Amino acid sequence: MTDIFEIRNQLQQRLKPHRYEHTLGVSYTAVCLAMRYGCDLKQAELAGLLHDCARQYKADEMIKQCQKYQIDISEAERQNPLLLHAKLGAQMASSEYHVEDPVIASAIRYHTTGRPDMTLLEKIIYLADYIEPRRDQAPDLDIVRPLAFQDLDRCIYQVMKHILEYLDQTGGIIDDTTRQAYQYYKEKENN
Ligand code: FE
Ligand code: FE
Repeated sequence: MTDIFEIRNQLQQRLKPHRYEHTLGVSYTAVCLAMRYGCDLKQAELAGLLHDCARQYKADEMIKQCQKYQIDISEAERQNPLLLHAKLGAQMASSEYHVEDPVIASAIRYHTTGRPDMTLLEKIIYLADYIEPRRDQAPDLDIVRPLAFQDLDRCIYQVMKHILEYLDQTGGIIDDTTRQAYQYYKEKENN
């Protein structure tokens, strides 16, 4: 238990107050989803706490940190280095916070893009990031919040659909993995 308190203290020192608040929201929401779907509670709590642990870096620092850990940088990530906080965060969970669990690392790794056939913890962190109590931007939260506790895959599909529509409209950069993930959950939904 102490390691969770230590990690929390370190994050509070490193992240901006609103980001730290979001981090706690994701952590507790992930624990609630873990209770519902029979996932390990401690893994959910830790992955929620650490999912944005690399979010404090500005674009150029994000690139530098990734180079330090020899993390591959895609074209989309070069154009928008903040996307790298997921890959870098997965690395930093072990190298900075001594959380060595690969299940937690992959949940952090895929929390921004999702991917086809996600693990239970990946789904939980992906959704907890979207629905945690401090979120107030997305217009579909009233639908998505209860849905997350009813049907994980359907909820993932709804969220990805909404995100892709939004990015298409605003001309945002869409990661290939996100499109593949959306196709996967769309087919699942329609079968
Ligand atoms: Fe994030
Ligand atoms: Fe987040």
